Amino acid sequence: MKLVSVAIDGPVGAGKSTIARTAAKRLGFVYCDTGALYRAVGLYCLRSGTDMGDSSAIAARLPEITVEIRLVDGVQRVFLNGSDVSEEIRLPEVSMAASTVSAVPEVRAALLDLQRGIAEKNNVIMDGRDIGTVVLPNADVKIFLTAKPEIRAKRRYDELVSKGMEVVFEDVLEDLQKRDYNDSHRAAAPLKQAEDAVLADTSELDFEQSVELVCGIIQNQNSNKT
Ligand code: C5P
Repeated sequence: MKLVSVAIDGPVGAGKSTIARTAAKRLGFVYCDTGALYRAVGLYCLRSGTDMGDSSAIAARLPEITVEIRLVDGVQRVFLNGSDVSEEIRLPEVSMAASTVSAVPEVRAALLDLQRGIAEKNNVIMDGRDIGTVVLPNADVKIFLTAKPEIRAKRRYDELVSKGMEVVFEDVLEDLQKRDYNDSHRAAAPLKQAEDAVLADTSELDFEQSVELVCGIIQNQNSNKT
């Protein structure tokens, strides 16, 4: 049977990961969070004291880095050089490092096969910034998920607080706007809506409504193709 791939792209805090994870569970798909891969590379560069202002220094680290995705009880875990870093990559300082390394073309190229390999073996919902435009340009369903910046910042703030992190709302908003800017202005695979993606704005929707919207789009678009 043909495998189905769903690409979900959008800016920081649009709810991509929580919505995509829940939608994948309901539809029986594997969920792949590609931001975690850039976070793992960012974490390695931070740990190794790499000059984050120097893209060739970042690229030079790549031969030292092995990033893997393993599914543990159907949940994605990310391994950096054999160690599970799934929690550590969520630290706020790693977010900015991920955004910085993700602008380096060599980093993007190094992570491409890993992402495509997952879609070749599974029915997948993959989220990121360039999934519908670069990683899976032939995805069966493409969704561009977004919401107003203040709403996205509030969601990200609540998520970090619920994990016990001490954060200030204004810092979260500023970080989000900086990352949005970086992600959409970089030369390599910038964040943008694919021409054939369905736009889904969740500003006025609660979590359950957002999941229903995404599941509805997936079922609809996919049945149009079969
Ligand atoms: O989605 P998340 O916030 O975890 O992603 C962290 C960073 O990784 C983003 O700010 C973005 O710069 C980068 N990223 C990317 N392409 C992807 C996924 C994430 O450039 N497909």
